[in-house]
Amino acid sequence: MLRVAEEFHKTDTGLQRRVNEDALFARAPLFAVADGMGGAQAGEVASRIAVEALAQGLADEMTPERQLIERVRAANEEIHGLSQRDSKHAGMGTTLTAALLAGSDLTVAHVGDSRAYRLRDGKIERLTRDHSLVEELVRRGKLTEEEAEEHPQRSIITRALGPEDDVEVDTCTYPAQAGDLYLICSDGLTGMLTEEDLLTQLAVAGSLEEIGERLVERANAAGGRDNITVVLFRLEEVATEGDRVEDDRPTTVGVPVLSADEVAAARDAQAAPESASAPVTARSVKRERSRLRGVLKGALVTLLVLTPFVVGAFVATRAVYFVGTEGGFVAIYRGVPYELGAGLTLYQEYYSSGVPVAELRPARRKTLLDHRLRSKDDASDLVKKLERGQLE
Ligand code: MN
Repeated sequence: MLRVAEEFHKTDTGLQRRVNEDALFARAPLFAVADGMGGAQAGEVASRIAVEALAQGLADEMTPERQLIERVRAANEEIHGLSQRDSKHAGMGTTLTAALLAGSDLTVAHVGDSRAYRLRDGKIERLTRDHSLVEELVRRGKLTEEEAEEHPQRSIITRALGPEDDVEVDTCTYPAQAGDLYLICSDGLTGMLTEEDLLTQLAVAGSLEEIGERLVERANAAGGRDNITVVLFRLEEVATEGDRVEDDRPTTVGVPVLSADEVAAARDAQAAPESASAPVTARSVKRERSRLRGVLKGALVTLLVLTPFVVGAFVATRAVYFVGTEGGFVAIYRGVPYELGAGLTLYQEYYSSGVPVAELRPARRKTLLDHRLRSKDDASDLVKKLERGQLE
């Protein structure tokens, strides 16, 4: 499975506009850029509605493409409705380019002239087709790419969220790979830099923060004629079901999370039973057995007490989330943290973060991995803060 290993986002007003009408969304595994248009700050309203529609979450039972289309169309309806009801917002609209990592695929949904790019093996590839007048003319052979880049009407777009009561959304799903670097950006970047410039900047070694800051700097150095928005994210491979080792099961209720040292110690003890530790006597074996019986009895009682709750919770498992660990990393699970035995669980992994459990302070580990049931937003916010180093 792939996950987002690193991300960076920035939006900048540029040098010639008074306000920034771009908006962005960055909450792995979903990223988006919206570029609003319309007088008297209506563009800001439109782009904000677009990204807020994504923040409301996706309907997991649909395919990723359907999930995104649903959200984009809902945003369109809201923007269009507001522009009809309120003269202050008449004629407002926005672009929206969104990318969702689902399993090993990246799904892109797109309306307008913001863009998504992928850098892989030193090559840059554009994943979206502008819905713009000049792109249309290029496609029909009326303009060359070079002429299009200099065309005075290149900011005229032929499709946006807002102008109509419905919108056609382009979607495409690409097989993703570890190491892929994705860029989503507004035309304030691509209008100022050529794709060759983009490639040069993206291919430089360095953190995404360095790369992103430099892209914005470059666009401003080239004139900064429009608002500039940059969202960058890089993928890496994480261990999956098949290559998971014993110790990497999600933490279960009542079982304290062991530190890496404790796990290592436990392993050593197992590997060398006749080592320096206290000799095993018949008596201690007996005590051990009766202790085990007590634990089993306790577990049975717990199971009986919990059964009505578990059955009830099973119905609701799709709506609740908890934070645990996966492969040594902090992860979000959907469902409730119970195992029914025989490999049956009431949860499934929802998101695997880039934060190793071993890096958490013991106190943080205890409160974070307490398996409290949380809403999706709550769990996502918590883990997101952790990833950004904002918890402490
Ligand atoms: Mn723009």
